[in-house]
Amino acid sequence: MAKINEEIFKNVISHAKEYGFVFQSSEIYDGLSAVYDYGQLGAELKNNIKTYWWKAMVQMHENIVGLDSAIFMHPKVWKASGHVDGFSDPMIDNKDSKKRYRADQLLEDKITSLEAEGEKEKADHLQTEMDNALKADDLPLLKELIEEYKIVCPISKTANWTDVRQFNLMFATQFGAMAEGSEEVYLRPETAQGIFVNFLNVQKSGRMKIPFGIAQIGKAFRNEVIARQFIMRMREFEQMEMQFFVRPGTEMEWYNKWKETRLKWHLALGTNPEKYKYHDHAKLAHYANAAVDIEYEFPFGFKEVEGIHSRTDFDLNQHQEFSGKKMQYFDAEVNPETNKPYGNYVPYVIETSIGLDRFFLVTLINSFEEQDLSTEEKQDSRSVLKLHPALSPYKAAILPLTKKDGLPDKAREIMDQLKFDFNMAYDEKDSIGKRYRRQDAIGTPFCITVDYETLENNTVTIRHRDSMEQERVDIVNLQKIIGDLVSWKNLLI
Ligand code: ATP
Repeated sequence: MAKINEEIFKNVISHAKEYGFVFQSSEIYDGLSAVYDYGQLGAELKNNIKTYWWKAMVQMHENIVGLDSAIFMHPKVWKASGHVDGFSDPMIDNKDSKKRYRADQLLEDKITSLEAEGEKEKADHLQTEMDNALKADDLPLLKELIEEYKIVCPISKTANWTDVRQFNLMFATQFGAMAEGSEEVYLRPETAQGIFVNFLNVQKSGRMKIPFGIAQIGKAFRNEVIARQFIMRMREFEQMEMQFFVRPGTEMEWYNKWKETRLKWHLALGTNPEKYKYHDHAKLAHYANAAVDIEYEFPFGFKEVEGIHSRTDFDLNQHQEFSGKKMQYFDAEVNPETNKPYGNYVPYVIETSIGLDRFFLVTLINSFEEQDLSTEEKQDSRSVLKLHPALSPYKAAILPLTKKDGLPDKAREIMDQLKFDFNMAYDEKDSIGKRYRRQDAIGTPFCITVDYETLENNTVTIRHRDSMEQERVDIVNLQKIIGDLVSWKNLLI
């Protein structure tokens, strides 16, 4: 990672902690690796991201409905889905540092550093060789590549590697109170299976007609071989997934549509399009016939934020076979070629799957700015989170200019009118300048200042976070002004 990018990333992480967005889990016990807690502002931001996704996917589509399935599922689900046998990563240990790595990630880091050194041809060559090795599940070849490209352990700086082995990523636990007679169950490694096993329940009870989708936001757990880069790769994380059920033969059309729709969702937040790119999968998962990642340019390079997969009828077929229950849909629409209904079939599925935490990180990185505001007279700077107002934890802050002369009472009165519709902050401590800076740092789009003029004519100033400009407005208009500026409409139309 280039020094400057490393610095930005470090600053984002410390900003997230300092202002109550993200804390290391169990920090007072030195933390639990790759597990994080969301603080008072992180929880708000995360909820707002969920709302943005849910509204865009469920509320804006008549043919998509939501679901909230349990984390525990019948153990056979994970047999059927292929996770018991195949959900593993190639890992390699360094014998000197005793550290464990994912073989493919060591190679990917090498590719990124070759690219940064201007060795494009070499990087492309390694990428092709690695893709081929992964496709063929050729573990010895992965090791050969690590040796050939002289990749060393970042800690011990040696190339004293073990062989590459497969490592299953699912967490297992005991189900039932007694150890004896209890059964082993898994913490779900993805939310998708909760949707597949409920496919018929939702289709029948909701009278859904193909094409239709089922969306879900929920926790997933993966015992990642190596967890790093803050909330980028966690052992407990949240996914926002949607499975879209379609008629076989139409899947590529829907795959392309969702690929486009999902990128638009990312870009609607105002992100520079150059920060995003598609990355087609070279190695398709056992269930897919097409797959693409939406990648974002993190300070440590382009990495996956969301995956769009054409999963064929693999999952429903597997559940049909393992459960012995039919997973078919009767399509009454008439096929113009045969003049008969399309009839019974197992639908094909397009999946869109985004990591909530990873997208949270994108949002923080994207919005974090350190600005130098120095003038000839004085040195000045500020940290600002330029969050889209719809995502901001607080929609506005109410700030009485001073703590006396009835200004706090007036400020509270305004707050009491607005708090039903907007999450509001109230702050009367320190100078007004310091308070503005505090709100800038947590991404509050508007500061409402109550001053002596307010007591005379019921007007206040609104200060805009990004431009730092102020305007004087009537209190009665605040509801509409803030409402318009933070409305979900600005993102969803
Ligand atoms: P990766 O290649 O980075 O391990 P993946 O291809 O296994 O990811 P998917 O199974 O497609 O990921 O999961 C969908 C999304 O869930 C990913 O795009 C990512 O945003 C998120 N995700 C997956 N694993 C993690 C994790 N360990 N921590 C945080 N988010 C994750």
